Amino acid sequence: MKYIDLHVHSNASDGSYAPAEVVRQAKEGGLAAMALTDHDTVDGLAEAVAAGQRLGVEVIPGVEISARFPGGTMHIVGLFIEYHDGLLDARLAVLKQARNDRNPQIIKKLNDLGIAITMARVEEISGGGQVGRPHIARALLEAGYVSSIQEAFDKYLGFQRPGYVSKFRFPPAEALAMIKEAKGIPVLAHPFTLNLAAIPLKNLIIELKAQGLAGLEVFYSEHTPEQEALYLKLTRELDLLVSGGSDYHGQNKPEITLGSMASQKKLTYDLVEALKAWRGRAYSATS
Ligand code: AMP
Ligand code: ZN
Ligand code: FE
Ligand code: FE
Repeated sequence: MKYIDLHVHSNASDGSYAPAEVVRQAKEGGLAAMALTDHDTVDGLAEAVAAGQRLGVEVIPGVEISARFPGGTMHIVGLFIEYHDGLLDARLAVLKQARNDRNPQIIKKLNDLGIAITMARVEEISGGGQVGRPHIARALLEAGYVSSIQEAFDKYLGFQRPGYVSKFRFPPAEALAMIKEAKGIPVLAHPFTLNLAAIPLKNLIIELKAQGLAGLEVFYSEHTPEQEALYLKLTRELDLLVSGGSDYHGQNKPEITLGSMASQKKLTYDLVEALKAWRGRAYSATS
């Protein structure tokens, strides 16, 4: 059996390991294919793809874009994106800037609460890639203000917590269009974070599909069996592709293992084949 993981982070965003190291771990863990899907950046892709060629792991170039969605978190993963022409990079630069503006504001809020952590230390923890809240969470953990990364989010960094600062996000239609411009496959990541009940979720997905959405992340490290079943049913009813991934972040989310879904199920390569077939049809005129 060929196993896969289509949602993985490196230290180009908020994973703890370098792209090549993540690919090495994928090899070691017996994965035939993995998608590197860092938040709002394609900076890790060249290194990961090269490592994949060296080690014999198929590395699918991806990205995870945060989209605007009041009341919940909407992340759209783009799979099989073209990242060499710089087009996507230019669009993502806006998001990187938004992040760079936000991080010091979060530190300031925490400092105002009497918490002595610094931006310099957070940057050290991030290891040179983009800084995200998980790095701030690690700084809080290291300084003893919380006893886990999750507690850092629950107490300080999560939505509506005292250290929360919102940042610019593209509307969903624009995030979908960016992925399609890069000839990628737009997939709605971890649908439960939208905080919607089944019927409104279905209606939203119908709307997103009309704007270019092609698939749902059915399998995920935090999906309950009920969620998995619902999302799988929606892919059938709405003719959408099935994707799945762990959302591995290395030591920044130590409870998540590369290649593992909550259902203990391992994802197999037939999902990748279906994605490739769809991509061949969708972009056949141009690529
Ligand atoms: P950022 O991109 O800086 O907004 O940080 C997003 C990262 O923080 C993602 O990896 C999320 O999974 C993680 N994250 C966001 N909210 C929470 C939360 N409430 N609990 C744990 N992790 C979270
Ligand atoms: Zn992340
Ligand atoms: Fe996400
Ligand atoms: Fe992710």
